[in-house]
Amino acid sequence: MTEQQHSTEHSWKGSGFETRAIHAGYEPDPMTGAVIPPIYATSTYKQDGVGGLRGGYEYSRSANPTRTALEGAIAALEEGERGFAFASGLAAEDTVIRSICKPGDHAVIPDDAYGGTFRLFDKVEKVWGLDHSPAAVSDVDAVRAAIQPGRTKLVWIETPTNPLLNIGDIEALAAVAHEAGAMLVVDNTFASPYLQQPLTLGADVALHSTTKYCGGHSDVVGGAVVVRDLELAERVTFHQNAMGAVPGPFDSFLTHRGLKTLGVRMDRHCDNAEKVVEFLTGHPRVEQVIYPGLEEHPGHAVAARQMKRFGGMVSFRVTGGEAAALAVCEKAEVFTLGESLGGVESLIEHPGRMTHASVAGTDLEVPADLVRLSVGIETADDLVADLDRALGG
Ligand SMILES: *Cc1c(COP(=O)(O)O)cnc(C)c1O
Repeated sequence: MTEQQHSTEHSWKGSGFETRAIHAGYEPDPMTGAVIPPIYATSTYKQDGVGGLRGGYEYSRSANPTRTALEGAIAALEEGERGFAFASGLAAEDTVIRSICKPGDHAVIPDDAYGGTFRLFDKVEKVWGLDHSPAAVSDVDAVRAAIQPGRTKLVWIETPTNPLLNIGDIEALAAVAHEAGAMLVVDNTFASPYLQQPLTLGADVALHSTTKYCGGHSDVVGGAVVVRDLELAERVTFHQNAMGAVPGPFDSFLTHRGLKTLGVRMDRHCDNAEKVVEFLTGHPRVEQVIYPGLEEHPGHAVAARQMKRFGGMVSFRVTGGEAAALAVCEKAEVFTLGESLGGVESLIEHPGRMTHASVAGTDLEVPADLVRLSVGIETADDLVADLDRALGG
């Protein structure tokens, strides 16, 4: 089947973000007028004679209409040509890595990559034959120095990074990757397409764990990839089908439903994060607040240039070391103690013992007094009061 057969009729290019979020990827069903894509719980499709596919659909690993709608929507939000949905963020990553690289190649990865991304490169792709070198995404020269000319085919970054919220200059890093004949993949999970569109800054791939802000309600695991080059799109199409890590129709439906409110949710996440940052800054029991929106943050100028706002993730260091940081996590009540991020509910966690426990003792180790917040969209005063209580204020 070809993309032509799956594309929606109306192009929403040039429309505003929220209009694209609500309309791109789907035209009301011609038969019933349903304004929302039905959950097409079907694995196969009746053919009108051998090879006579209706709308290009033949088998739901290759394509399913509920998934097609989601893929069209995410492509429109990232201002790319083609979108692809996956069963998880990591499934999206594996598919992209193997669409771009082959055994014997080399990749540059963040020295503070998401733990699962590091594990994928270090324990899975390496065995398959792809080598990697870590470099700080905030240091363009370090990334350039980590590139092995002729062998590096992939530069992988996150920005902001997790949990230290370091910022990579997407435009500069795209130039560095392209000079070396490599592609730049940006894991855009923390910013979401509302705050940052890597493809418009020169990246080749924008990637998401849609489990986080895109889905936004902590009720579905998923991943997405958006590309602007049609030749790369062909390779990802092939690998998506050949590797088969696709989401089912119900997961696709939930993620697509989440995407429609991404803009309004992100603005509230940012409003609330700003209020939390203001409260934490100068609190006697807080050693340091880490947020790209703060002028003293080393990546502030780059973030201000490439992001619409500074996001809903906030990290801070608690006076009194690890025990004090753990106590804050345990005393919070509105902030739920848990991993993950990007949902409507606020979450608090201790990266050293939770999300980043697997990197203890390596170069990726995070400070023991660090607490990470995923600031949700509850009433801001309640979030501040909860932190005040948890800090023993
Ligand atoms: C969660 C996350 C992933 C992995 O996504 P899953 O959906 O959990 O597989 C990748 N990158 C970042 C930045 C993440 O936060």
